[in-house]
Amino acid sequence: MTSRPSVSGHVVVLGAGYAGAHAARGAREGGVQVTVVDPSGDHGFLPRLAGVAAGRSSLGDARAALEDLVDVDVARHVAERVDVARHEVILAGGGRLSYDALVVTVGAATHWPDVPGLRRHATSLRDAEDALRLRATLPRTGSLVIVGGGSTGVQLAAELGRARPHLAITLVEEADRLLPAEPASLASAAGRLLRDRDVEVLRGHRVRRVDAGGVDLDGPARRRDGTVLWVGGWQAQGDALLREATTRDGRLVVGRHLEVLGAPGVFAAGDVAAHRDLFGQPLSMSAQIALQAGRVAGANAAALVTGRRRRTARLLELGRVLDVGGGRGVGRIGPVPLGHLGTDRVVPLLHLSVDLRHLWKLGGARAVIEHAPGRDVGVTATVGATGTRLRAVG
Ligand SMILES: Cc1cc2nc3c(=O)[nH]c(=O)nc-3n(C[C@H](O)[C@H](O)[C@H](O)COP(=O)(O)OP(=O)(O)OC[C@H]3O[C@@H](n4cnc5c(N)ncnc54)[C@H](O)[C@@H]3O)c2cc1C
Repeated sequence: MTSRPSVSGHVVVLGAGYAGAHAARGAREGGVQVTVVDPSGDHGFLPRLAGVAAGRSSLGDARAALEDLVDVDVARHVAERVDVARHEVILAGGGRLSYDALVVTVGAATHWPDVPGLRRHATSLRDAEDALRLRATLPRTGSLVIVGGGSTGVQLAAELGRARPHLAITLVEEADRLLPAEPASLASAAGRLLRDRDVEVLRGHRVRRVDAGGVDLDGPARRRDGTVLWVGGWQAQGDALLREATTRDGRLVVGRHLEVLGAPGVFAAGDVAAHRDLFGQPLSMSAQIALQAGRVAGANAAALVTGRRRRTARLLELGRVLDVGGGRGVGRIGPVPLGHLGTDRVVPLLHLSVDLRHLWKLGGARAVIEHAPGRDVGVTATVGATGTRLRAVG
């Protein structure tokens, strides 16, 4: 790793996810001292969680200690609130941490709508602990109902369809097609892939009630029995941390330098921030936007402290890749769909290259590609000065 630049000022980053890791790196390059606050101190690769839940990837493929990737201090704590006037973060348990500039990157959590029985009887998939719990508790036979046909639901249903062939899997989506946030061509490719893996897809069905035995739906297919998994959406809770800030649906509203409106000296990036693209269009929550925004927010926090010029965030959504194991996937590069005519085979490789680029931009990575005939392709990346090894499986 490069030698530490001379230090003037202290930037605190809340969260060690995609946005937090890149914010830490961006601030470090700006010549300030950086402390990242995160309960586990691990940088999590959330797009790999479905693979962990299905048993295709190990937990070590889906997270790494942040200090092995970026040369910063990590404080293993939960941030409870920010005192903007005093430039302090209030930690769970009562401790306080002062900052010269702050970057909030605490991500989002599962959104639990007010459906009777949902919170009590369904489980979700948001972090490594959820993935391990699912892996240990999901039945091998019987029935599973996955509610939410967005990218996480499609990925999980396809992974489990392959990993648990004796489990009858139903994927329920409220909209009239899968992947409602994506172009229709992706939805048809996802539908074909799920058919190949014997997943039943119910579109246009709202969940009315969940109990210990399954779900009641509206519409003609009224009941599905089985274990229930809810992946119907994410909810940011930026307002809980920063009471004086302006928020939209719990996401912190930021200006062009990613400074939070109503909270001077505080920047935000990733799922917790309401980002817009180059053309002013709202951006959905994604890893690629989180890492782009994190880098700018971290650099701007350092620039504020050291009196340098701040950068305008120019965020660009380049595409989407959903790797579902077995060398297949669906996705798109810009508007061009992948998943038809054999292009589904390209997606896992694209996913690997996206992961490697992410690691390389964080700390520099060397990659070794392994491929045993009939098995998934694996890439082992050696990252940073400590030589942390991460394995991505495509
Ligand atoms: C199962 C799943 C699959 C996904 N697949 C894809 C995909 O294929 N492609 C894609 O682009 N996106 C995907 N996403 C979305 C993507 O992972 C997120 O948009 C991205 O992780 C956002 O990065 P972030 O840094 O904002 O938040 P996160 O990655 O969620 O990181 C937030 C961090 O903040 C920490 N934290 C939370 N609260 C506090 C607190 N109070 N104090 C301190 N630390 C805190 C958390 O521990 C965590 O480390 C997926 C998400 C999930 C859950």
